[in-house]
Amino acid sequence: MRRRDLIVSLASAALCTYGVMPERRAMAAGLGFAWTKVPVITAIGAAGDPRQPLTRDAVTFWNDTLAGLRSGFRLGAITQRPEIVPDAVIAGMSQRVLSGTKPGFAPELASIPGDIVVALSNADFISFSTHWASGKGLVAIKSGHAYPMTLPNVARNVIAHEFGHAIGFAHNADPTKLMCGRPAPCRPMEFQSTTEHYFPLTADEKALLLQLYPPDWHAH
Ligand SMILES: [Zn+2]
Repeated sequence: MRRRDLIVSLASAALCTYGVMPERRAMAAGLGFAWTKVPVITAIGAAGDPRQPLTRDAVTFWNDTLAGLRSGFRLGAITQRPEIVPDAVIAGMSQRVLSGTKPGFAPELASIPGDIVVALSNADFISFSTHWASGKGLVAIKSGHAYPMTLPNVARNVIAHEFGHAIGFAHNADPTKLMCGRPAPCRPMEFQSTTEHYFPLTADEKALLLQLYPPDWHAH
C-alpha cells in the first residue's frame, strides 16, 4: 500500500470510530437504571446541619442541568426528618459498596418515607449511593467534620456526585469532572476550591443524561 492510501484508510477508520464512540462511552457511564417516576427526597439528620442546604443546592444543580438539556425528568421535593441510620450500619454498607458488593436493604430505611433517602451521617466512612430493586435509593454522606469534607467546596460536590449515582451515573476518570471516582485515582479532596462551584459533567455524561431521561420522559 502506498503511503497516501494508508493515510486515507486510517482517516476513514478514525471517522467510523468517531461515529460510534460517543454513544458507547456514554452507555458505559451508566449504572443500568433510570427513574420512571419523580423521586421524592428525604434528608435525614439534624435540621441545622450545613449539609441540609447543600443537599437542596445539589437537587437544584441537577434539576437546572436537566432543564438546560431539555430533559423531561426532575428530582422531586425534599423533606427533612430527624431519623438517623446507626453509624455501624452505614459504615458496613459503605464497606460493601467499596468492595463491589451491593449492600442488603437496611431495615432502618423501611420506615423512612421518600424514594431517595439522603443520610447526613455523623460517622466517618466513604460516602456512597446505592439503589435497590424495591425502588428505594440511599445517598449516604459522611460526617461534615471528617476530612476532606472540612475543605472548602468539597461537601457541596460530594453531595452532588452522590446524587449523580442516585440518578444512574457511574464514575469517569477525569479529575476535573464531578463524577470522577474509583477505580480512577481521583478523590474528593480534589473538589477543594476557594470558589464555591460545582464540578462539571462530561459531554458523554450529558448525552447519557438525555438517553436515560429524554425530553419526552414522563412518570409512569
Ligand atoms: Zn462515586
